[in-house]
Amino acid sequence: MGLLRLVLGDQLSAGIAALQDLDPARDVVLMAEVMGECTYVPHHKQKLVLVLSAMRHFAAELAARGVRLDYIRLDDPANTGTLTGEVARAMARHRPTGLVATFPGEWRVLEAMRGWEEALGLPVEIREDSRFLCPLPRFRRWAQGRRQLRMEFFYREMRRETGLLMDADAAPVGGQWNYDAENRRRLERGVVPPPPRRTPPDAVTREVMDLVESRFPANFGTLDAFAWPVTAEEAQAALEDFIAARLARFGDYQDAMASGEPVLFHALVSTSLNLGLLTPRACCEAAEAAFRAGRAPLNAVEGFIRQILGWREYVRGLYWLKMPDYAATNALEATRPLPWSWWGGETRMNCLKQVVRQTRDLAYAHHIQRLMVTGNFALLAGLDPAPVNEWYMAVYADAFEWVELPNTHGMALHADGGVIASKPYAASGAYINRMSDYCRGCAYDVKAATGPDACPMNALYWDFLARHERRFGGNPRLAMPLRALRAMPPAKREALRAQAAAFLAGPEMRPEA
Ligand code: FAD
Ligand code: SF4
Repeated sequence: MGLLRLVLGDQLSAGIAALQDLDPARDVVLMAEVMGECTYVPHHKQKLVLVLSAMRHFAAELAARGVRLDYIRLDDPANTGTLTGEVARAMARHRPTGLVATFPGEWRVLEAMRGWEEALGLPVEIREDSRFLCPLPRFRRWAQGRRQLRMEFFYREMRRETGLLMDADAAPVGGQWNYDAENRRRLERGVVPPPPRRTPPDAVTREVMDLVESRFPANFGTLDAFAWPVTAEEAQAALEDFIAARLARFGDYQDAMASGEPVLFHALVSTSLNLGLLTPRACCEAAEAAFRAGRAPLNAVEGFIRQILGWREYVRGLYWLKMPDYAATNALEATRPLPWSWWGGETRMNCLKQVVRQTRDLAYAHHIQRLMVTGNFALLAGLDPAPVNEWYMAVYADAFEWVELPNTHGMALHADGGVIASKPYAASGAYINRMSDYCRGCAYDVKAATGPDACPMNALYWDFLARHERRFGGNPRLAMPLRALRAMPPAKREALRAQAAAFLAGPEMRPEA
């Protein structure tokens, strides 16, 4: 036989590196559903269904192309439950001359892969994942010698390199690199987001749903609303739906939050991108084409392209640059356990309730909900980064460590001490009130900072600044709130501290069961 070619659950792209130069007559493609990958965090049921169903669909497409496939199902009695075990078994079955794999999305998996050559006694080639727009060596070159690794400068280089949204004279279209300042509108009354296209589960997905319900009955989340694309064709249809119906207002309402509107004008493409059903270039080019055809304004298209060409590539580069030490940092020395409300327990905080409920039902929350509701709360309350990272890895259908960790650990929790963000994204209830309607339906009073019904975000915000006053004292981006803190009469500061302490010791913070 020829080579054994491994395809992982988030490598479901026809052009994936491990399948390039495949010899259909001699090579075998190995795909394995293993318990270890299903349980290393307690994944949301929709995430399990999404990955397993997408793998089965991809395998069927390969088989239809005449590829020799060795597909191991989760319920195969001989399944060893680990990737390493399944590679070893496949080697015994096929006796290949070598193994070809694509660079994985998690440090943990790379570590295992690096041991295979020695443990299994055959040559292992791990190829660069060519689906990204910035190869890792290119990112390393960009990062080398820089004191600060700011996304904005990386993004400009990527715009120049790819030519996306650039004029013929090498200047950014419209004369500006970034239109973020125009992308901060609250959802006004009368603006009704169009419902996104749903991809109803087919027979393969329904079979996986039964499997997941029977093998993982206690996992967080419900399957009733499952509507994720599980094939490249479905993912393309979902992208086209976004471009036609929501892209034009994506920019304006990018930071808005609204009760009963989980998606607003967002793209819902992260699961498809992360699994490999869509390529980042195709998403960016589709958005640019809509702009050039006059179907979407520049602030929307630039904002969308920046998320994919900028943020997505940047966090991947940082993850691989900084791991494995990155995950263990805890710059703000946060140690509080995760409250039970994050797993659906009772809370009077409407913002938290809305985001957790939506996450349970859809395995989705948009960026500002993740950053400024749960993320902000975790930052202010000093939640331990490890369980917070695990929660984000578990509950979102698009969560893979290379993208989840920098966003949670770095951007939301500032646990990396400022590698990603030059200041912590800390905000009081006023921000949530400005960008959402959550406070109107809340038992707490967003205008109050102390007293029995005061919004907890307010006292926690001031308490956070006071706790870290020395650390952030020299940060010009926090100069204004720190000045306000210092101008407070001591009695007010003490009242805020006591309010925060009472909340943190109270029933809302009961740890997870
Ligand atoms: P849109 O808002 O429509 O954006 C379009 C695309 O841009 C997204 O699909 C995504 O691919 C990309 N993108 C946008 N922001 C980011 C970002 N900050 N980092 C990387 N890519 C970005 N994204 C994940 O894919 N997986 C995660 O596990 C994940 N965890 C996150 C955790 C926290 C605490 C935060 C603050 C953000 C996280 N993000 C994660 C980024 C972002 O929230 C999601 O990509 C986005 O909400 C997905 O929904 P969408 O496709 O509708 O995105
Ligand atoms: Fe959240 Fe405070 Fe607003 Fe309630 S009042 S929704 S707790 S920000």
